[in-house]
Amino acid sequence: MSGRTHGGACPERMCVGCRERAAKSDLLRIVRIGDECVPDDRGTLPGRGAYVHPAVVCLDQAVRRRAFSRALRSEGPLDTAALRLRVQRAAEQDE
Ligand SMILES: [Zn+2]
Repeated sequence: MSGRTHGGACPERMCVGCRERAAKSDLLRIVRIGDECVPDDRGTLPGRGAYVHPAVVCLDQAVRRRAFSRALRSEGPLDTAALRLRVQRAAEQDE
């Protein structure tokens, strides 16, 4: 026992794609800038954020159910092209 505890302090967020809870650090924060979903890699962009696993499957699920529009309070559909590229690139680096 090192005395280190995991008592409730670990920040958890729900992935808007698969809707599973995960540690905030395992998820990608997304913010809305205009009509575009922008990945917030450093967690520094202001405004409402949505969280998604950096995985294409989760991104696809989120897009299909318009989870980003709902989570980010957008009236219309959001552009996720840049976000998709970002997630695809991250997935390639993982392999
Ligand atoms: Zn997910």
